[in-house]
Amino acid sequence: MSRQSPPPPPAQAMPKHYLEAATKSNPARGIGTLSAPIAEGGAGHIYRHPHDPSQVIKLYKPDRIDGHADKISYMAAVADRVPPPSSQFRVIWPKRIIADVARPDRPLGFSMEFLDARDWVRLDKFSHPILRRQEGLSDSYRLRLLAVRHLAMAINALHAIGAHIIDLKPENIMVSRSGATIAIIDCDGMQLNSGARVLFPAALKTLDYTAPEFQSVAPNRIDNPANQDGFAFAVIAFRLLNRDAIEPFSGITSPRLPNLPSDAVGRSLAGMYAFGLKPDPRIAPQPQSIHTTWPLALRQAFDSALASRNRPSMQDWLRITDLALRELNRCKSSHYHFGHKCHTCGSLSMPGPSGPSMPWPSRLRNLLVPAGPLSSPIKIGMGVCLGMIALGLPISQYQALSTPRDAPPKPTSLVVAAPEPPLPATGIAGRNASSPPLNAPLPPIREIRELPPPNLKAPVSPTPSPLIELPSMVALPPEFPSRNASSDSPSLNPPALRDAAPTRRLPPSPSRLVLPDFAGRQITWLGPSEASTLVDALDTKLDGERIVVRTSAGSVLAAQIGQSRPPCRSMEIYPRLGNMIFISLLFCPDTQRRWVGRRT
Ligand SMILES: [Zn+2]
Repeated sequence: MSRQSPPPPPAQAMPKHYLEAATKSNPARGIGTLSAPIAEGGAGHIYRHPHDPSQVIKLYKPDRIDGHADKISYMAAVADRVPPPSSQFRVIWPKRIIADVARPDRPLGFSMEFLDARDWVRLDKFSHPILRRQEGLSDSYRLRLLAVRHLAMAINALHAIGAHIIDLKPENIMVSRSGATIAIIDCDGMQLNSGARVLFPAALKTLDYTAPEFQSVAPNRIDNPANQDGFAFAVIAFRLLNRDAIEPFSGITSPRLPNLPSDAVGRSLAGMYAFGLKPDPRIAPQPQSIHTTWPLALRQAFDSALASRNRPSMQDWLRITDLALRELNRCKSSHYHFGHKCHTCGSLSMPGPSGPSMPWPSRLRNLLVPAGPLSSPIKIGMGVCLGMIALGLPISQYQALSTPRDAPPKPTSLVVAAPEPPLPATGIAGRNASSPPLNAPLPPIREIRELPPPNLKAPVSPTPSPLIELPSMVALPPEFPSRNASSDSPSLNPPALRDAAPTRRLPPSPSRLVLPDFAGRQITWLGPSEASTLVDALDTKLDGERIVVRTSAGSVLAAQIGQSRPPCRSMEIYPRLGNMIFISLLFCPDTQRRWVGRRT
């Protein structure tokens, strides 16, 4: 796709009339003046299409045009190779080139399908139970497994036409609110290949989703793009399928091994994967993880993708997720889950509609891993204790060096840009010497920031709510009693629950908390104020919400509401602040409207 590269117009003379390039089915036409942008990214702005509400237009910033013009021209030319939208997935691929009417040979941007925020949500909103509630999304585990499968289908389709995503992360993936249809966005950042030849390299990568072998490689130099996509896909799928969006490189390490990395990138480089079939003696899984319930083939696939470089292909993932869908069971409350016990309500399972062909106990034997010190299902605090004892280390010497990051990653320094704008293989020069001065410094972040669209409801902020930030437990003393604790996590109060709350809301009173003796003796930080905080949490908080108390060392996780059947509520209480050992209690209301706890 060679083209002439005339000097670009000065920035102050940006054209106001645009032309859509002709295609076989549509003649070229002028589209007039665009209204205000509805979104802005590092490379350009997004506008509503003046004539077609199903489309939007992306125009690059003047200094970014040369780096993208040939690439989007190529993409528009091969758009008919991209699979059409289906109920499984769609790819938001450049459809038609947009140019200045006075300079039709010079692409300024492209048109693409419009995804309405009322119908689509970023995939990371689908990973965590609190975010799902905030967005009104289904809690169905089967739907999440379907989303994983549909994501594999989309990536597989892209690989088949020589497109590799590279900067594959939840922020670049949308999921339909009504189901598990996946949409891949930001396609102009992909690496495009013709056979083994790179036609257009990728410009960005994100460290948390970059395979360890490419951590120190610039995004436009990644030479095995399928392997990079395979790693990023596995990280995303792992968080979707595990409880509370646990990260694959989270875990519990021992202070007896003080020089171990504590961040996800460092741990991936060191191969510290806590969830493997073969336990890693350096790191133990998070206690709430449900990875031990997964079918063996699924666990093997994650082991290969995250703890080796021999990663499954997307076609492998399609086979594995297809089998996994057939392994799902349903409990009496209709929750889908793997294994014999529902990870949502704890009840035993019944075969699902697509269900098993043999009773679960024999299937379960096949699903569970061979016996090992950390291989048995660990679901409660005592499980953590057993795992630690099996490692021969005293419990008191364990502390969480890193907690799972339940909120979506923030668009901060994690994104790495290629050192220069991507140079198309056709040899277009980078920034033209006569290019206009930059309007403003451009951050090396491709994150699209939605602006308030005039006819849409307010977009969801990409910044995660501080309510779900896990407090850091690093460098806390083993215990930190506090008598001045207060809740740091006010209720989310979604409308439906807020409407219902007044009927049972009482002023929190410490006398309404009734603890079993063993728990009362162990909770070092409990006073009247803290008891009131727990009562308030039992009254008003949603499943999965955390109760955080503030100490002089910072905010510390004190308890977390679990999932249980009304009217009772389960709660995990951390008797020593800063320690990962917790007590699991079930609180049920009595006739005096007290919450009476008992051991689960
Ligand atoms: Zn259940």
